[in-house]
This record gives sequence, structure tokens and C-alpha cells, in this order.
Amino acid sequence: QLPVEPDTRVSYEDCLPYQPVLQRAGLLQYLALWRDGRTRADDPLLWGDEVEYTLLHVDKDTGMTRLNCRLRTLVAELNEAAAADHPQGDSPRSIWHYEGGRYMVEGTPGSPYGDTFTDLLAVEGNLRCRRRLLESLCHSDEACVTLTTFPRLGASDFMIPSGVLPSQLTGSHTIPDLAITDHLRYHQITENAAKRCGTTCILWAPIYRDLRTPINFIDPLPATITPENLRRLYHIHPPGPRDCVYLDSLYYGFGSCSLQATVQMPNLARARYLYDQLSVLAPVLLSLTAAAPATKGYLLETDTRWHFLRSAGDDRRLDEMIGTASRDSPTTAPFRPRYDSITNYLGTDNDDAADSVAPYNDVPVRYDPDHYATCRQAGLDHWYSVHLASIFTRDLMSGRREFFHGQDAPGATGLSDTFTASVWPTTKLKPPCPRTGAGWRVECRPMELQYTDSQNAALAVFVVLLARAILHDEPNFYVPISHLDDNMVRAARRAAVRQETFSFRTGQDHEGAPVYERLSVNEIINGQSGGFTGLLPLIHTYLDGQNLEAVTRTKINRHLALVGDRASGKLPTCAEWMRSFIQHHPQYHQDSIVSAPINHDLMMAILQDNGDSATTAFETAE
Ligand code: ADP
Ligand code: MG
Ligand code: MG
Ligand code: MG
Ligand code: MG
Ligand code: MG
Repeated sequence: QLPVEPDTRVSYEDCLPYQPVLQRAGLLQYLALWRDGRTRADDPLLWGDEVEYTLLHVDKDTGMTRLNCRLRTLVAELNEAAAADHPQGDSPRSIWHYEGGRYMVEGTPGSPYGDTFTDLLAVEGNLRCRRRLLESLCHSDEACVTLTTFPRLGASDFMIPSGVLPSQLTGSHTIPDLAITDHLRYHQITENAAKRCGTTCILWAPIYRDLRTPINFIDPLPATITPENLRRLYHIHPPGPRDCVYLDSLYYGFGSCSLQATVQMPNLARARYLYDQLSVLAPVLLSLTAAAPATKGYLLETDTRWHFLRSAGDDRRLDEMIGTASRDSPTTAPFRPRYDSITNYLGTDNDDAADSVAPYNDVPVRYDPDHYATCRQAGLDHWYSVHLASIFTRDLMSGRREFFHGQDAPGATGLSDTFTASVWPTTKLKPPCPRTGAGWRVECRPMELQYTDSQNAALAVFVVLLARAILHDEPNFYVPISHLDDNMVRAARRAAVRQETFSFRTGQDHEGAPVYERLSVNEIINGQSGGFTGLLPLIHTYLDGQNLEAVTRTKINRHLALVGDRASGKLPTCAEWMRSFIQHHPQYHQDSIVSAPINHDLMMAILQDNGDSATTAFETAE
């Protein structure tokens, strides 16, 4: 198969001796962006969402719905169709990008939404428009869905065309190379991750134990996979193999979809503050949006895609996973996986001893002290330097010939962009972009994708209003990073939205020390009586002060009500709804298996819900 872009890849081995040089060159590019961007002020609150679409092949005769691996060729068609179809004549209404799976495509608004409250309401129409555009290019036996994880991803006969196993790229015995985008960067990252850590990536995902799930369930590993190859799924019990399903490809993670929102801040200081606060809320957003209760044809004991991704992008060597005895040293502390919560809060740029975030940054961060020193010499404060040095201490996993030349030319950003695009934290601080003129932006990344445009719109609106209310009210949500890590683990569990509690800051004691209590998602979102105000009340108070027209406010309230009902349990999460659909299906044998016929009916139900009907699947489910 011909590459779709010029192949200038440089192999992992050839890059290896140059890693420190490449890292430094990338870091210097970033520092130039920082230098130019640090004085930006009063940038408007522009924002945009990202939604990933899954293309299905639907065989009505046999009742089979499979992943349809042809989307890569559709990206150009979609962008052309979007360009041809914009009444205002300024910019197209949507932009389309390739994604990790060959059955996936990402759509964003054609240009960011503006900073007014009426603009906030443009997102739902834009999402509908995007879905219609994609549908208009679908053949009669195709359909598109917004699905976090296809329940039969990696099960037998899950895709079309069928593809060859095992995969050459990943060694997977379940997900063929044909499921993976033909974009070379993904191939390179995939190959290099395996080279770097020296093992096949295997995770044990705990199976949901139903009435007839075999006692001591075992998902037998292919004979070629030895115990030395195994990488265990962190923290989620049991550790496997008993009562676990093995997932043996990066694409259980990169083949899942998410909902992201990026918000532009007036300046760097505000961006740093919002980055910190949204990072604390990431586990809450994850459990609130949970939408991935099954994969590989099995119901799982977890509800989200996050741990698939956390393990999928993980290229750490053993010493980097556990660190050494002197874990407090930046050179011997453990690395985080590339896909994870944040390494450290950024705080303000006031770097004196009274540093406000130091007590919360209680998990050691690994970085190269030389890169840290480079940041400090450039004028960055301590915690921003730690943040950057840790990003640029990662090996470059997608080396290209062009990265070896001209990277010190003024304005070059290629290397910097590649390094920052190869870590995937819950929250991202995006530096100004000279090419587009964008300013400092914060990207909120933990949310799972919902089936319907109205739900995705509601969550996007919620996040943007949360950002606005946070900037306005300046609440203090800081919890130690160690608490945040624990919260992320809890957020993945089944029905976390109703059953889990999260370490949350509720105030301070009479000596001024922070008080952390265990709060449910409902208490965090809707508030406690006599305790924490709640994020929705915070937003409503903020909106009350904004002189909105009644009609605008009513529409905004409708979006927010959905979030409140989700948190209170009045509406199920997509994961709960999907789980319940599967468990009540007449062909389900209470054995945790999501068979092809069950999956087909589930996809049909989801598709039906995205027709024009006013009732959502959630209202009819109860
Ligand atoms: P990435 O995949 O790196 O996160 P994308 O280009 O896919 O980036 O998505 C970026 C998102 O940010 C889109 O929703 C886009 O509309 C939005 N966006 C673009 N420019 C700005 C800006 N200046 N301020 C805020 N959001 C922006
Ligand atoms: Mg994107
Ligand atoms: Mg992307
Ligand atoms: Mg994407
Ligand atoms: Mg993004
Ligand atoms: Mg709908």
C-alpha cells in the first residue's frame, strides 16, 4: 500500500543517539513560543470541540454490524464537501482530521466559536451539521455513530475488510493492521513504543461477573505470548489473568473515541490557573461521561476507555515505570505513561518560597535536569519548568528527516509540536500558535463521547461555562496530585458516577489547612446541602450576573439540566444505558458476552436515537 504522505521517517534506532539534541531543539522552539506569547493579553474566550466519528458497515440481511475500515479516504472528501457547503462564504462549518482507527474520523468546527453566550449555543447545530455531512457520504450499507469504544472491537469478525492476524505492527492477535489508520505517524509511534519498552503491550481488563460468567474465567493468551511479555493493567483488580480479558493492542486505546473541548484564555496566567482547576475535575468529568462498558465482545467491570489509553500509549521501560529508591530525584523518579493525568500543577509564575502549589505537587516528576535548567535560564518559574522539562524528556517517537535540519530557524515549531503532541494528559496547556494566531489555550480531554449530538453539546457547553465560572469566581479546587491519581482510578470503575466518592477540597480548618472530604459526583456537580456549593450552582450564579436574554438562558439551562440529571442518577450514563441494553437483550446469556447479534441491535438502537426524534435513548430506557 502506498503511503499517503511523503515518507521521511527516521527509524527509532537512528534517532536514538540524537534524542537529547532533538529534545533540546524542540524545547528551544517551545521557549520561543513562550517568549513571544507571554505578554499576550485580552485574547477573547474562543473555543471549539473535537468529536470522533466511527463508521459502521451494516449488513441488514445477516444482522451483522462491523467497523468499516475505509474512513481514511473520506477525510479529503469530507473537507471538500465542507468547503463546498458554507453559506456565509467565510470558512467551512467543519474541519476533518484522520484518527488512530481506519474506521474513525475527527470533526471540529470550521473555525472556533466566539465568546458570546449565543455563540455558546452554536455547538449543537454544528454537531448535527457534521453528522449530516458524514452521513451524506455514507453508502447505503454504512452508518456513522459517535461511540467511545465499539463493544466488539477485537472480537471475531468485528471489522470489514477482515484483515490479517497477527498484526505486524503491534503483534496483536485480535486487532489487525488494517484497522489502524494508514497515517504514518501512528505506525511509527506504534512500532517505536514496542521497540522502546521491549514488550508486546498486553492489558488485563477485568471482566464483569454476571450470573453465568464462568467461575475463574480465563481468556486464553495465544501461545506465542509468554508471561514475560505481559504488562498488567495498573491498579484495577483483579490483576489477571483470572477473571480478566486480555487486550493486546495499542488500538484498544487509540481505537477509542473521545469528546474534547479547547478554550482560549486571555493570557498565560489565566491559562495556568484554569489548567490546574480543570485537571482536578478530570476524574469527575470522566465518570460523568462514562461510555465504554464493553470491548472485545465482553462486558467489563470498568465503564470508561481511559485505562485502555493509559496502558496503550505506555512506552516506559521497567526502570522508568517503578523508578529507583531515590524517587524524589528528577532523574530517577518514575515516568508517568504518556497518556495519563497531569505531572504537576502549574500555579502562578510567582516562584518564591511561598509558592502556592508546592504542597499539592506531592508526586515526584521525572525530567532531565539539563532541560529544566534551560527553562530556568530562559526565565520560566519552577513548576512551569518542571512541566515542560518532563514533556521534552520523553524520547521523540516520530522522528522525521526534516527534524534534523533547520529546527533552529526563527519561527520553526515542528519539533516542539511533535513533542507536545506525543503526551496525552487529561488537561493540556496549548501555547500560542503563530500559524493560526491562536493564543494560550486549555484543552479539556477526559470526557467520553456520547451517542447523541444533544448530549455531546450539553457536555461541551457545560465545560465552557465551567471554565468561565471558574475564571470569574476563582474557586480553589486543589487536591494533592496523589489524591488526583487515586480519583482517576476510581473514575474508571463501573457505575462510578453513582457509587464512587472522590477526594475533594471542601474548605479549610481553623488553622487554614485544606480540608478534603469524600464527595460523590452528584455532590460535586449539584452541591451538598450545607457543604460544597456544587459546580452547577457555581455556573448558575455566574450566569445570573451576566444579563442574559431569557431565551438564551433557557436554552443554556436545558443543556445544564442534562448534566445535573446525569450526576443525580436521574439519567443513566451511556455506559449504564449500554450495559443495561446488553443485559436485557433476549439473546444475552448472563455470561458477560456481547455477541454479534446483541451488538447489532445495540448499534441499531443508538442509530435510531440520532434520528430526529425528540426522545433520547435515555428517556426511553427507564
Ligand atoms: P488537537 O487535535 O491538537 O487538540 P484540533 O485542531 O483537532 O487540535 O482541535 C482544536 C480545537 O480547538 C478545535 O475545536 C478548534 O475549533 C479549537 N480552536 C481553534 N482555534 C482556537 C482558538 N484560537 N481558541 C480556542 N479554540 C480554538
Ligand atoms: Mg484534534
Ligand atoms: Mg488528534
Ligand atoms: Mg482526536
Ligand atoms: Mg484535541
Ligand atoms: Mg438525538
